Amino acid sequence: MIRTHSGGCLCGAVRYETTGALREVVYCHCSQCRRQTGLYFAATDVADANMEISGGDSLAWFAASEHAKRGFCRTCGSVLFWKHNTKDYISILAGSFDQPSGLTPGFHIFVADKGDYYSIDDGLPQFERSTPAVKVAGD
Ligand SMILES: [Zn+2]
Ligand SMILES: [Zn+2]
Repeated sequence: MIRTHSGGCLCGAVRYETTGALREVVYCHCSQCRRQTGLYFAATDVADANMEISGGDSLAWFAASEHAKRGFCRTCGSVLFWKHNTKDYISILAGSFDQPSGLTPGFHIFVADKGDYYSIDDGLPQFERSTPAVKVAGD
């Protein structure tokens, strides 16, 4: 049986459905993720082929760097996606999934850039910057 997951933004204008396994959640503490989310970025990912988005008219993209763009709902502002420009997968914010999501915790990246107003004490692995351990679902 193929497992599907669904989710969407706060106002409901943007919805999505994924098929198959979801990667463990990676927590990114880089300055871009910190500014966009107000805390840090917690996301899983799936191959583009396993992702269906509806309400795409309400989806806006911001190119925070020349490598990647960040998708959010233009009506309610919910952060939803992160997409590398040349890769065939999409990162999805863990908080946007309908519950129960079945997601599992992975590890922290870019902890060198984390905010000074919280501590990371959940016992999960921490990496100063990125790591090859960041895999795409199914890898
Ligand atoms: Zn919305
Ligand atoms: Zn980040």
